Amino acid sequence: MPPFVDFRKVWLAYDDELLARRQFAVEDISLQAQPGEFIAIVGPSGCGKSTFMKLATGLKRPSQGAVLVDGREVAGPLKITGMAFQAPSLLPWRSTLRNVLLPLEIVEPHRSQFRARRAEYDAKARALLASVGLAGYEDKFPWQLSGGMQQRASICRALIHEPKMLLLDEPFGALDAFTREELWCTLRDLQAAQRFNVILVTHDLREAVFLADTVHVMSRGPGRMLVRREIGFERPRDLALTYTREFSDVVLELREHIGSIRRAPEAVS
Ligand code: ADP
Repeated sequence: MPPFVDFRKVWLAYDDELLARRQFAVEDISLQAQPGEFIAIVGPSGCGKSTFMKLATGLKRPSQGAVLVDGREVAGPLKITGMAFQAPSLLPWRSTLRNVLLPLEIVEPHRSQFRARRAEYDAKARALLASVGLAGYEDKFPWQLSGGMQQRASICRALIHEPKMLLLDEPFGALDAFTREELWCTLRDLQAAQRFNVILVTHDLREAVFLADTVHVMSRGPGRMLVRREIGFERPRDLALTYTREFSDVVLELREHIGSIRRAPEAVS
């Protein structure tokens, strides 16, 4: 099967001056993800994880190489993606339901049909909210929800237009450990049901190993993909897995890689 995400020897310098000096934010990135694959990107701060995301969604074009998504070269911002970030960034004057509906009001082809199909879209948003445990909160405002509930709503907003790819940049970083683990399970179940591709950027190695099919470790200075580790644990995965020896061994193995990156001389400068 052709890959869904295909980075072919991708280099990016943020501007012409940096390019002239050959100072790249990411260098020589080749990475493929199969349709429906869940990948996690881990690495020290400043290694290029956000830059990778910008390239995957077309917010940045490579200085060299090519990025293909769903068989096409990415030439501008992609509509087939949904995104969620560390801050839930819900609009405070909109109810939970109307926050979730927002992409349908903005992105074509939904935008022009929004009024005519409003009842159908409402029902869809309510069903999605119910699937993440937010039934009954549709009419509440963001400030009436806990941090974890806001993040659930923001993941619903990212998925309402049924994107083929979900990009998550540290989505659970601001949550307490219990809420974070609950949301791992929410994301696991949504992805199992809908089979969208996921690119998850995280600092949390346990999160990466629990959720992903493949973990990619990036190094800093220059930002390169250093290690690709397939995570073979059977699905569906239960949180109990995270307390097993096999799981800890994989986490430790990845930690070793990141430790050696941090100890490397170029990472210190
Ligand atoms: P991470 O997300 O892993 O913390 P980034 O992708 O934000 O890393 O940054 C990678 C490198 O690119 C860093 O050296 C950073 O200083 C540089 N960089 C990021 N954004 C810009 C920008 N807009 N202009 C110039 N350099 C940038």
